[in-house]
Amino acid sequence: MDFRYRYTDEQEEFRKEIRDWLAANVPDDMRAPVDRLDLSDEQYWFWRDMHLKLAEKGWLNPTYPKEYGGGGLSGEHETIILEEFRRARVVPSFTNTLIYPTLLVWGTEEQKQQFLTPMLKAEKIAFQLFTEPNAGSDLASLQSKAVRDGDDWILNGQKIYISGHGDPDWLYGPLITDPDAPRHRNLGYFMVPYPSDGLSMERMGLLTGHDQSMFFLDNVRVQGDHLVGQEGQGWQVSQTTLEVEHGGRGIAFPIDESMDNLLTYVKGTRHNGGSLGDDPVVQQDTMEALLETHVHTLLAQRNYSMYQARQEMSYHGSQASMFRKEYHMRNADRARNVMGMYSLLGVREPRAPFKGEPEVFQRSSLTGAHPGGTIEIQKVIMARRMGISRTRERAAPTPSTTGVRGV
Ligand SMILES: Cc1cc2nc3c(=O)[nH]c(=O)nc-3n(C[C@H](O)[C@H](O)[C@H](O)COP(=O)(O)OP(=O)(O)OC[C@H]3O[C@@H](n4cnc5c(N)ncnc54)[C@H](O)[C@@H]3O)c2cc1C
Repeated sequence: MDFRYRYTDEQEEFRKEIRDWLAANVPDDMRAPVDRLDLSDEQYWFWRDMHLKLAEKGWLNPTYPKEYGGGGLSGEHETIILEEFRRARVVPSFTNTLIYPTLLVWGTEEQKQQFLTPMLKAEKIAFQLFTEPNAGSDLASLQSKAVRDGDDWILNGQKIYISGHGDPDWLYGPLITDPDAPRHRNLGYFMVPYPSDGLSMERMGLLTGHDQSMFFLDNVRVQGDHLVGQEGQGWQVSQTTLEVEHGGRGIAFPIDESMDNLLTYVKGTRHNGGSLGDDPVVQQDTMEALLETHVHTLLAQRNYSMYQARQEMSYHGSQASMFRKEYHMRNADRARNVMGMYSLLGVREPRAPFKGEPEVFQRSSLTGAHPGGTIEIQKVIMARRMGISRTRERAAPTPSTTGVRGV
């Protein structure tokens, strides 16, 4: 039986429209660099402008409601768009998009108009402001505080590891609003405008470069209508953000460029008068890598279809997320076994295979194990949801399970 998905004629037309448009509008030198940190200022501003156009066409945020600046399109459309974006090396949105589902579920109509619409239209960008020096995995240990001052809030504290390229327009995340309230009832979830008086940003240097920042909040004044959800509901609002971040929306079109490159390398490299693939050890490594990539694709697509079908989710998001983080590290090792020292040559080395992608992957597979819940935390979540832990939990509400329009 052939399980392959067949696109309809109309869908193939849609694909052609995107492909032709991108070919006509994205010059070669503006395509995503192998190392995303090599994005030049010129490329950054090209893509800020291009995102406006892609949003206008409904392709940037395809499945979100049209009334808020999304595309109002189906999951199948999103899959085709992502396939074509990948082919054309489109640079993705500079917003940390986890805020979209969060605002759909928890935002008031005014907040959707004020925050969601300009972000879906790509006019404004936002970063996720969750982690603190003493609160990463254990987010309930946050220390940054928000204190009421008339209708406003005054924010103080420090956030760390905040991902994002360029300057944001907003930062979003939880702070303590009531230090005396019990855990999980003591937070508020804020949209914090940037720049603001008292708010400063300092770039960090991780193994993967300078795309993470620290933010310092020193008596930052934020208007009362920038609180998403009720006072004391910040934990619950954060859980919606995290539910999606932990893999709960799935992935329409999972991409693994490193796997493609590994296969191409093995097929195309001559060794001892034959193909590198003739070597039984290389064969073993490459096939293990391929198998694991395929398993992850299936898990991510299963989650995507469950999400689109508005099915109840449980451990599924964390299962895919955990597997992705683990197999990325294993595949980075396998690529190093197969390509040897060449896999360690950086993007500017002429002899680096695939313009240095394997070297970028060696580093990003390590840093990638942390954001969006570490491997251990994904296991903790799965255990809680499968009923084999001291504490039990259900999946947090998302646009899919709450039935709001647009997923
Ligand atoms: C590249 C990158 C991008 C990031 N982007 C963002 C961002 O945009 N916004 C943001 O807010 N944060 C961001 N983060 C921060 C990220 O969310 C945290 O690093 C993560 O939550 C882990 O927190 P921590 O670093 O404080 O580690 P810790 O929580 O201190 O964990 C240290 C180790 O202990 C383990 N551990 C902790 N608790 C348990 C437990 N209960 N059971 C078993 N093991 C446990 C962890 O798995 C880990 O191995 C980013 C981090 C990185 C590396």
